[in-house]
Amino acid sequence: MKAFQYQDSQMGLELREIPVPEPGNQQVQLEVKAAGMCHSDCHIVSGTSDAWLTKKPITLGHEVAGIITKLGPEVTGFKLGDRVAVSQVCHPVEERDWSLGIGLGFDGGYGRPLSLLMHWPPPTML
Ligand SMILES: [Zn+2]
Repeated sequence: MKAFQYQDSQMGLELREIPVPEPGNQQVQLEVKAAGMCHSDCHIVSGTSDAWLTKKPITLGHEVAGIITKLGPEVTGFKLGDRVAVSQVCHPVEERDWSLGIGLGFDGGYGRPLSLLMHWPPPTML
């Protein structure tokens, strides 16, 4: 599959061929329908700072909407064909972990499909 990946600000976003991500036990695979370019992504690509990234190269894109195309065996509460919007929930914000963030710690929405953990409600709100 093709994805726009980031390695460093010298190269910016590069269109690369990467393996199709298969969902793990508690993950789903999404067919990405839309991915926003956040101001944070602009800072990363322009070289202001990429300190939030815990993986490189990485497919950026942390504001994503799509359709579930595969379910991991332990996923509950979702079914194939569900339309979902993905966000990063950091509550309390002091306990955020960027390595768990889509497009920051694992590949995000500037490629399709993508696989990601789905938790609703987020564990901190249970
Ligand atoms: Zn953002």
